[in-house]
This record gives sequence, C-alpha cells and structure tokens, in this order.
Amino acid sequence: MNQIPPLDLGLQYQSIAAEVEAAVRDVMASGRYIGGTAVEAFEAQFAAYTGTSECVACASGTDALYLALRALNVGPGDEAIAPSFTFMATAEAISLVGATPVFVDIEADSFNLDVSQIEAAITPKTKAIIVVHLFGQAADMTRLMAIADTHGLAVIEDCAQATGALWHSKKVGSIGKIGCFSFFPTKNLGAFGDGGAVTTNDAHLAAHIRVLKDHGATKRYYHEFIGINSRLDAIQAAILQVKLRHLDDWNTNRRQVAANYHQLLQPLAGVIPPRETPGGVSVWNQYTIRLQCQDPNRDNGEFRDQIRHHLQASGVSSTVYYPLPLHQQPVYRHLGYTPGSHKVAEQVAQEVLSLPMYPEISPEQQQQVVGELQNILVQAPGHL
Ligand SMILES: *Cc1c(COP(=O)(O)O)cnc(C)c1O
Repeated sequence: MNQIPPLDLGLQYQSIAAEVEAAVRDVMASGRYIGGTAVEAFEAQFAAYTGTSECVACASGTDALYLALRALNVGPGDEAIAPSFTFMATAEAISLVGATPVFVDIEADSFNLDVSQIEAAITPKTKAIIVVHLFGQAADMTRLMAIADTHGLAVIEDCAQATGALWHSKKVGSIGKIGCFSFFPTKNLGAFGDGGAVTTNDAHLAAHIRVLKDHGATKRYYHEFIGINSRLDAIQAAILQVKLRHLDDWNTNRRQVAANYHQLLQPLAGVIPPRETPGGVSVWNQYTIRLQCQDPNRDNGEFRDQIRHHLQASGVSSTVYYPLPLHQQPVYRHLGYTPGSHKVAEQVAQEVLSLPMYPEISPEQQQQVVGELQNILVQAPGHL
C-alpha cells in the first residue's frame, strides 16, 4: 500500500502544469527577473483578493512580519503580544526588531489566542498585538480589535496559514492594521520556493514598507533607514498569479476534506476533532486533532508520539505542529516563564496530531487514515 503523505504538491502541479509552465516561460523570455510587471500584477491581484488597497510582496512570511513591526516602529524597549502556540517566526520577528515578545495562552478548541487573556498582558511598553490565524482558522477578530482599539495598540495579523480564510465575511489580512502572508510551498497559496506579502489599507504604511524592504532607500542609492533586501522573485510572482486563480477551489476542497474527517472521526473515543469557531470560515491549512490518553498514569505526549509512530508504520504520515510552545523554547528561557504559566498551550502541545490534509486527498485515502487510527486506538493503552 502506498504511504499517504502529509500533503502532495506534485499531484497539485500536475493539474496546473501547462498554465505554470507558460507563465514561467513568459518571465524567462521577458529578461525581467526582479520586480517588473509579474510582481506588480501579483501585488494588485492579491490586494484585490484580500480586500485591501495595498499589497507589498516580499521574500517570506518571516520578512513580512519583520517589515510590519519595523513599519509600526516597534523596537528596543517595546513589547508585542503573541500567542504561545504558533510557529517560531511569529515571535522571532518581534525579537529581530529588538522588542520583547509577551506570550498569551490559547484556547484549546480553536488553537488561537485566548482573547480574554490579552488585557492582563498589556503593559505601558506594549506597542502591538500579533494575532495568528493558526491552521487556517481566523481568530476572534471582533473581540480582539475592540481590545486593541481601547488600548491604542496596532494589530498585525499573521495570515501565513490562512490565505482566504474569513472572519464574518471579511478576508483575514484586511481586518487589523497589517496582514502578513507566507507563500512557502506548504501554505494554502504556495510558491515554488519562498515568498511573502504584506497587506494593508494604509497607503503610508505600505510606502514605508516598500522603502524598508529595499535597503531603506527612499531614492535609489539614498538611504534613510537601515532596511533589508526582501523581494518576491518575478518567476514566483508569475506562478502565484496562476495559483491564485485556483485558490478558492482548493480551499473549498479542503473544507470538504475537513467535513469528511469530522464525520469519520465522530465514533472514535479519545480523539477530539478540531472545531470551527462560529463567525469564521477556516481554510484548513492543517487538520489537527487532539489525542487524549484514557490511562491517567500515562504521559499524553508519549502516547501521541507512539500513535504517530504506529500510523507511520501502517502507511499514514502525520505531523506534530507544534511539540513545544514558544514560551518554553530554549531561546526564550531568559524571559522566565515557569511551567504551567500557559497551561492550555502546554497541554495541547502534548496532544496535537495533524492528519494528511491537501485539496487532492481522496475519500478512500481519508478512510484509510481514520481506519488505521481506529485500529491503533483499539489496542491502546494496553498494547502501545
Ligand atoms: C510559515 C509561517 C510563518 C513564516 O513564513 P515563511 O514564509 O516560512 O518565512 C510565519 N508564521 C506562521 C504562523 C507560519 O505558519
């Protein structure tokens, strides 16, 4: 039996090969490999898709976050609030601008920032909140924006995993001050390499980000700021234009895949399927279940890792996003968070398992995933 992969980008390529190859050939023949019409057209199309007036393309999602914080003048001495359960890049960008991340715990059923805990984390040094729409699901932007407005804080949306997701019919990346996107190949809109973008409705901020991503130059060879070199390649922009035309169909397929999983998993004891937050439409970058061991004497993380191992042996790939919350990372030891300070993130990190999720996965493959999981769970805890 063939191994079911976590995702299958080769299969997706087959369905768009002719369009992609024509677009890439056009760029190669144009002789314009940095900037130019491919990048400008993609920026315009992505702004329109997101429902913002401005889009600035850059080299990665990490750069997008870094540039957003720089543009908002978040720097040394400042604090920025971020969820404790997300990919490292969210907090890393805060550290890279010289500010300090202040971690807030998450909600177990959405994996997103627990908005009710934000106010307790605000200090006179707080400048911004980075909210992450984790695994493709929008965080509660209504409550979050109300808190941010009350305290005069800028909101950056980390949309790396949620391109196309909605919160009350608005696209993520159009609700806060700045939206940050990644086009890493495994994201919902993935390039054939690295890429990223910033979206905003603030023309002044967008202009400032354009300067910062181009070595801080306001005019060529005249530098007003210390910036960086962060560009989306023309070839990647051309590929992304093609893929953007298919994104809504792919996201619709992901929603169907999630609905199938949800139904198949209902009868399984000890498995908590992910829950879609009312008010949001998830684009399911990941389908992440939680596994809870019925034996109170066993460690949940070890139980989960063994199930993952058995799944792998029976032909099903799964992934742990993320095994260690950010407030417990070695690099943030100096911040002094004690065990139990972010209980939900710490618990969830022991329980999560992301199942194969991509638009092209077949119902038969999904049945196999859940069938193997069921076989393994029936033997637990005695035989694992
Ligand atoms: C992928 C990701 C990023 C970083 O994007 P890159 O393009 O890989 O730099 C940031 N935040 C989250 C939540 C991500 O998943």
